[in-house]
Amino acid sequence: MQGEPTEPAASSGDMPLIKVSALRKGTVIDHLVAGTALKVLSILGIRFEGAVTIGLNLESGKVNRKDIIKIENREITPEEVSKIALVSPRATFSIIRDFNVVDKFKPALPPVIDNLIHCPNPSCVCNDSRVATRFKVERTDPLKVRCHYCERSLKKEEVELL
Ligand SMILES: [Zn+2]
Repeated sequence: MQGEPTEPAASSGDMPLIKVSALRKGTVIDHLVAGTALKVLSILGIRFEGAVTIGLNLESGKVNRKDIIKIENREITPEEVSKIALVSPRATFSIIRDFNVVDKFKPALPPVIDNLIHCPNPSCVCNDSRVATRFKVERTDPLKVRCHYCERSLKKEEVELL
């Protein structure tokens, strides 16, 4: 294919094709679990310096659905990647510069997560603001973590990010 750098059009059944122009510079977060894009946006905050394109519930293979986010002029930080991995463990990240993918990776959750997850146990020592929370990852997908201090175990849907 020659000419303008565009990505393959996304189609959804009989809906008209939607063309999304390629990013010159920024981050593409693909293969987000369908329904998690807005949560991911809230993780990223509103520090955007360019266009943000969001695709919700797009076809991904024959049966699956996914969300996708394209963020212009912003490269994602390792801390943001870890948070997004907690929400959507199979997400893929592509860093774009001059229309080229210069880095593409899937996040790997570390065995221990410091200061990202809130412990819902009110008597847990980590709810003292001087103590950073610490959770051990017991299972990645579906996510299961355990508080290092009070041993409270949390499933994916119970995880609340700080
Ligand atoms: Zn705890």
